[in-house]
Amino acid sequence: MPRTVLITGANRGLGLEFTRQLLARGDAVIATCRQPAQATALQALGAAHPGQLRVLALDVASEAARAQFTAALEHALAGTALDLLINNAGVLHSGERFGHVTQAALEESLRVNAIGPFLLTQALAEHLRDGATVANLTSQLGSIARVSRFGTPSYCAGKAAQNMLGAQLAQALSPRGIVVLQLHPGWVQTDMGGAQAPLSVQESVAGLLAVIATATPAQSGRFLDWQGQELPW
Ligand code: NDP
Repeated sequence: MPRTVLITGANRGLGLEFTRQLLARGDAVIATCRQPAQATALQALGAAHPGQLRVLALDVASEAARAQFTAALEHALAGTALDLLINNAGVLHSGERFGHVTQAALEESLRVNAIGPFLLTQALAEHLRDGATVANLTSQLGSIARVSRFGTPSYCAGKAAQNMLGAQLAQALSPRGIVVLQLHPGWVQTDMGGAQAPLSVQESVAGLLAVIATATPAQSGRFLDWQGQELPW
């Protein structure tokens, strides 16, 4: 059965591939990005799937943009509810090392990676169908148990904060049977992951969609990778 899916950061990388695979399986997709007019790959997908894709503007880090988007969404949904919300947008300050971490980078990472997904989900909760799924794209770099020498403290902290806020969402939404997952996509060939990453976007997204499709309420609040393996917090 076709589903209605909302995705953030859909103009490139994993977000664009989520949109491509969801459209291919027949879902109705509301794809959001910061600058729809410049999202040429996304617009091309819309042309190839007439009536199936809506592209709306959303900067997840901006309170004003989230409020404006929430109002616009009412119109786009036209009475239907969301089956799946994919909080995909994220930011990494590549090459950041201790000694050079800035307040601006820490604040931006928290706003984009943690605060945005949490407050967007809170604002959209009334539009989620009972039994819907919220998939938060996190990273194993947010695992405190597996803290590594990789660096990028602002990213690691942003994803760790997102993990806790995801667990809070899972608790808050469980009475409605809404499953909230913290999902690590693997190390993937995107602008963020780089060309040397072992996984293609196609493989990662296919795996993530399979994990989402088979997730049960008992798994809500869990931290899983793209193959469904549990990760330590
Ligand atoms: P990319 O850097 O390739 O794409 C990031 C996306 O997020 C872009 O669409 C970007 O939009 C969007 N974005 C950034 N800031 C905002 C914002 N404030 N509001 C709305 N959109 C924004 O990353 P990936 O596709 O690789 O990553 C997707 C998710 O997966 C992220 O959450 C990332 O942390 C996570 N992840 C990725 C891994 C990898 O190896 N690739 C590994 C682990 C986790 P714009 O074009 O406007 O900048």
